[in-house]
Amino acid sequence: TAHLLTATGVQKNYGPTQALRGVDFSIAAGEIVAVTGPSGCGKSTLLHCLAGILRADAGEIRYRDQDIGLFSEAARSRLRRSDFGVLFQFGQLVPELTAAENVALPLLLAGSGRQEARKAAIGWLDRFGVADLADKRPGAMSGGQQQRCAAARALVTEPQVIFADEPTGALDQLSGEQVLGAMVQVVRDQGAAVVLVTHEATIAAYADREIVLRDGAVDPTGLGVTP
Ligand code: ADP
Ligand code: ADP
Repeated sequence: TAHLLTATGVQKNYGPTQALRGVDFSIAAGEIVAVTGPSGCGKSTLLHCLAGILRADAGEIRYRDQDIGLFSEAARSRLRRSDFGVLFQFGQLVPELTAAENVALPLLLAGSGRQEARKAAIGWLDRFGVADLADKRPGAMSGGQQQRCAAARALVTEPQVIFADEPTGALDQLSGEQVLGAMVQVVRDQGAAVVLVTHEATIAAYADREIVLRDGAVDPTGLGVTP
């Protein structure tokens, strides 16, 4: 299968800290890849570079044969809104908005009408099993319910690639696995690819493939957290 997103020799420094020392990575359409490794090994930095949130210092990142390193800030921002979805650890919902309003937001920003956006939002909440929470605010939901809403919001624009950074990191094991299980089912239906940063074996086990980072480089032994 052709690769959707490919990183070659990606380097990223924060001052004297070499966070990425030449990382190669690729993901095919519809594939779920876990990025694992010890704290500080560069997982979040890689995800931010792949998603075009951070600019790499060296190397190349291609999305559908376009070198996103050559994109302007505005072009990368457009690409993120149209083709990518992001899901972070926790607390990313807007507290003043209801679940349905949070999920509708990316559609409204993309120019959808209110009715249409609300209808789609409720449909996505339903796919994550939380349609009954549509008119509740995040403060009235459990952590797992909030992450289901955040996952619905990441998917509502039907992105090609979802970037998930420790999406279950703030949840207990059971609700973490439930949220991820729901997400995997939905992205399989959707055919979206997922870059899943995690340090948990039970979460990495949902992926098709695992790549292991150590000290800013891909561990060639590939010995990670999944059996
Ligand atoms: P991980 O996600 O695997 O924990 P990170 O990508 O967050 O790793 O961090 C990789 C390295 O880069 C670490 O040494 C971390 O301290 C450093 N780092 C990450 N973000 C910054 C930043 N904004 N400024 C300075 N150093 C950073
Ligand atoms: P993660 O679980 O994503 O690795 P961290 O606690 O490492 O979270 O980082 C949280 C935020 O702090 C990120 O935006 C990261 O870029 C930034 N950060 C991480 N390490 C450092 C550091 N050494 N100096 C400054 N910022 C950092």
